[in-house]
Amino acid sequence: MITSTGYGATSAREPLSKLDFERRDPRPDDVQIDILYCGVCHSDLHTARNEWGNTVYPVVPGHEIIGRVAAVGDQVTRFKPGDLVGVGCMVDSCQHCSACAESLEQYCENGFVGTYNGEEMHSGGMTYGGYSSNIVVRDKFVLRIPDNLDPAGAAPLLCAGITTYSPLRQWKVGPGQKVGIVGLGGLGHMGIKLAHAMGAHVVLFTTSPGKREDAKRLGADEVVVSKNADEMRAHRNSFDFILNTVAAPHSLDPFLELLKRDGTMTLVGAPASPHPSPQVFNLIFGRRRLAGSLIGGIAETQEMLDFCGERGIVSDIEMIRIQDINAAYERMLKSDVKYRFVIDMASLKQQA
Ligand code: NAP
Ligand code: ZN
Repeated sequence: MITSTGYGATSAREPLSKLDFERRDPRPDDVQIDILYCGVCHSDLHTARNEWGNTVYPVVPGHEIIGRVAAVGDQVTRFKPGDLVGVGCMVDSCQHCSACAESLEQYCENGFVGTYNGEEMHSGGMTYGGYSSNIVVRDKFVLRIPDNLDPAGAAPLLCAGITTYSPLRQWKVGPGQKVGIVGLGGLGHMGIKLAHAMGAHVVLFTTSPGKREDAKRLGADEVVVSKNADEMRAHRNSFDFILNTVAAPHSLDPFLELLKRDGTMTLVGAPASPHPSPQVFNLIFGRRRLAGSLIGGIAETQEMLDFCGERGIVSDIEMIRIQDINAAYERMLKSDVKYRFVIDMASLKQQA
């Protein structure tokens, strides 16, 4: 076994603290990675606090991982020691169901293996994520990072980037379309950047009026404060597509009313308790659709990274030390993230 040091939670009520643990010995198709940076996703907080009711403790969160290859198994041909690589939300899947055959591993019919709080396929026990010194991952789940991108800024692409890129592509967002992004946090700010890069007219919906200028700088053409009914009314029946990234339960109706005929709102935010059921009439009138989307497959994640490489797109980050992770969670709960925390893993060697 390989020893690893990281930060994790031992129960839903405890703050994250330093933990030592073990990972499997690298297999012939494994890549062993020394972690440089790890983004902080709201899913990490949901899981650390068992808000989805499925956490196995201890849990070491983190699925926006950037690192350097330390060693590769005999069968690995795509990577060599020293390469800059990424790992996102998945580290394995069955590889033989119809979803895996289409590189939609996130919808694996036998259940993909999450980067943390997943069932380890080889050594048993649970997987541990990227708030740590190193990780061992099957080569098929390791991503190449374009070398022109800032490595720390690229970390959030591995979850926030692909989770917004995939639905924007699935619903064919492009020039001539009016696209809404709901919520300006980690996912939302990547949604603005990517929808803008795809050529859409982008409107941000926010509950935080103070984020107006930032949203414009990130690429939004318009900003609507969603609590302001007059501002909302001005956009009725006008959207082709809305991507909802909000991490808390809220009424979906005010947004459904803004969709055109045949428009779609896709939910990616995953609150701990459900949204109130929307008015069916808001769907029937206008043949509107309400959908969901889960991260993205490995091939599409590489496509997204290459898309970002060609356009120089990275996340707007605030770098933190791992010792400050609990304070970062509290700020995330107050919607005070500008616009993704990224942990500098060199801080693991510092005193608390
Ligand atoms: P985040 O950085 O905390 O951003 C969430 C944003 O939602 C906030 O910045 C805020 O934006 C808005 N918001 C928060 N509370 C709200 C409330 N009570 N009412 C209205 N708006 C509120 O979180 P994130 O990392 O982007 O993640 C967002 C959600 O997506 C989480 O639930 C996460 O678990 C989920 N997620 C899903 C997937 C997937 O595959 N589907 C992948 C990753 C994450 P404003 O200040 O602009 O209003
Ligand atoms: Zn995530």
